[in-house]
Amino acid sequence: MTGNNHRPPLYRFGQNPNPTAWPSRLVILGATGSIGTQTVDLVLRDPERLQVEALTAWSRVEELGEIVRQLEEAGCAASPWIAIGDPEAHERARLHPLLGRRLLPPGDAGVLESAGLDSVDCVVNGLVGAAGLAPTLAAAGRGRRIALANKEALVMGGDLVREAATAHGAEIIPVDSEHSALAQCLTGRQPEELERLILTASGGPLRTWTTERMNRATRAEVLAHPTWEMGPKISVDSATLMNKGLEIIEAHVLFGVPYAEIDVVVHPGSIIHSLALFQDGAMMAQLGQPDMRVPLLYAISGERHEPLKTERLDLAGLGALHFEAPDDERFPCLNLARQAGEEGGVMTVGLNAANEVAVEAFLKDRISYPDIHTIIASTLDGLEPAAVTDLDHALSIDTWARQKAAQCLTVQGRGA
Ligand code: NAD
Ligand code: MG
Repeated sequence: MTGNNHRPPLYRFGQNPNPTAWPSRLVILGATGSIGTQTVDLVLRDPERLQVEALTAWSRVEELGEIVRQLEEAGCAASPWIAIGDPEAHERARLHPLLGRRLLPPGDAGVLESAGLDSVDCVVNGLVGAAGLAPTLAAAGRGRRIALANKEALVMGGDLVREAATAHGAEIIPVDSEHSALAQCLTGRQPEELERLILTASGGPLRTWTTERMNRATRAEVLAHPTWEMGPKISVDSATLMNKGLEIIEAHVLFGVPYAEIDVVVHPGSIIHSLALFQDGAMMAQLGQPDMRVPLLYAISGERHEPLKTERLDLAGLGALHFEAPDDERFPCLNLARQAGEEGGVMTVGLNAANEVAVEAFLKDRISYPDIHTIIASTLDGLEPAAVTDLDHALSIDTWARQKAAQCLTVQGRGA
């Protein structure tokens, strides 16, 4: 590999697979979300081998109570620890018969405590957004295996997570389907064998739309992802291709590959999850039906292909696979993210924070689809590239960028 932004990889090349000793005891951060509930589904399918030590949620107390009920019924959770982010919801959880028994403190403190529990083998991080960074660092600081879906943690604090994981021997295994695919392609390989990484992108629901039509895209149209069912934030990111931009940064942090050697190809069927090109021209791809339980179990098990009943691919039935180049003009967020990644440090913190503010405003119908890009670009204009020194520094840049993006909102949209 060449290029001046080559970093040591976070992913442990050549040391995988690193199978888990069963049963494996899990913390599920963000248990009520899309990733969280799919992790719960894996536990319910295999309660002999997967156990739940703790669950966290932001405010959906009733849904979390139902999850605990199902886990107890299946015999896979003896009263898990519960952490609730929202203080008002925490009060409700206190009165809940299944949640009030082992309740951790409200807010970030409880989530952090659950991520650092001693009795845990693997922390599944299914939090969305910047809230995922501090618990990732807490788990890495305890030398845990982390099945990491929360890509924003690596976008905001890739260097910090690498330092903590290296210092404490933590194992970071990606859950994002593209990065899990790359990890599967790279098993047993060394960094110097690699020439390029190729991330596949579905292209999202607006893939074939004209700019004129995109300018009028509604919330419902943007949320209608063609191949994956996911939480609202990542669904909007998939429509703007910001998700793929964040994934370029995630791939750079995980695999230590310079940005110039990470490509994106649009592959609408989401059958090939990503590819690695090696120095001799050989290319490895990982294929499968889109199903997040596959990369989740692969990460939880320490990168083993454990038995899992999923829909198998019917290659003859599929007939053909389709690819096209991404359209940088219609999807400017892709290059915005790539550029922020190349500049590094605080720029990716600002990118992530401004994107979160803009996406939330779009989901509340306060701004239009093209405003998302405008707000992020204006926010980044106010930042000078610099390294992120520690978590407090990352959080202070995050706060600054959120305020700046909120000011841009009042200009672009309909105010607060
Ligand atoms: P989601 O919105 O469905 O779920 C998010 C979870 O985090 C919920 O349980 C919510 O209660 C919790 N949460 C949100 N804010 C919080 C806060 N401030 N403090 C504590 N808890 C909080 O999101 P999702 O689709 O499951 O995505 C989770 C992460 O996984 C994201 O980073 C996303 O990019 C990544 N990811 C998701 C998918 C997918 O298929 N859903 C695929 C690849 C990557
Ligand atoms: Mg992905």
